Amino acid sequence: MIKETFTIEQLSEGFFELFEDGTIQKMDPKRLKNPMEDPNLGKYSSALGIDPLLISTGEQNIIIDPGLGWGLDHTSKFEDTSNVITNLKIFGLRPEDIDHVILSHLHFDHVAGSTFVNDRFETRPTFPNAVYYVHSDEWDYALTQIDQQPELIGADYRLDELYKLVAEKRLHFVEDDEYIVTPGVEMIKTGGHTPGHSIVRIEDSQAVSYFMGDLIPTEFHLNRPSHPQTVLDSAQVQQTKKLILRKAYQEKATMYFYHSLYKKTGQLSLDEKRRYILKDG
Ligand SMILES: [Zn+2]
Repeated sequence: MIKETFTIEQLSEGFFELFEDGTIQKMDPKRLKNPMEDPNLGKYSSALGIDPLLISTGEQNIIIDPGLGWGLDHTSKFEDTSNVITNLKIFGLRPEDIDHVILSHLHFDHVAGSTFVNDRFETRPTFPNAVYYVHSDEWDYALTQIDQQPELIGADYRLDELYKLVAEKRLHFVEDDEYIVTPGVEMIKTGGHTPGHSIVRIEDSQAVSYFMGDLIPTEFHLNRPSHPQTVLDSAQVQQTKKLILRKAYQEKATMYFYHSLYKKTGQLSLDEKRRYILKDG
């Protein structure tokens, strides 16, 4: 049993528009008020949130999926944008304070904030004292995708900067399908979205929470399947989703979504038609 109560925060980078070729633009959240009247949204692009997770156990600080990393590079043109470092500051934390960085999978919109380029044009880890974790199946698959047309719309692998983490032995390849990063924080391999995709189960003295990664990217996907062009193995996603949601419901767990536009977190519950809904936790 874990004795501590953890604090869990979403480090929101805002709203973005993702195009089919994988480019991303910041999006005016006002467009979300009338998405039906916006001819581009949903047709040529999709709207998404980017919400890395910060867990503080009292002794350790953990980040899950460090976001887009806009504004981290020395030469970045995105100066006024929030990113994982500016958002950590809000909670009084510096990059040096992060002990573990968990990568649900290696699509760039989840991991680009792992590193930055400094004023000497060197790639450096954003969190200099952290161990980074990814499932080995994800790394192996990502390596097969170099110079390939991405298999999924708008979701590609950009590994150049990650090689530096590997060379410095900062990226730990997880072999087990269930792996405890630190007591109370466990990676669970789900596959489906990508071969090595993992979610994270968090359990402290009070409650259970889940970070769903792209297995369930938004609250909208709780009861609906993901678009087939956004997952590699739909059957695997459906099967795993069902099992995990059933377990999470029994555990009265709080769910955290990385790409939600409206409701980003809440306690899992069922409505009168036995569909999953989120209650305020
Ligand atoms: Zn993805």
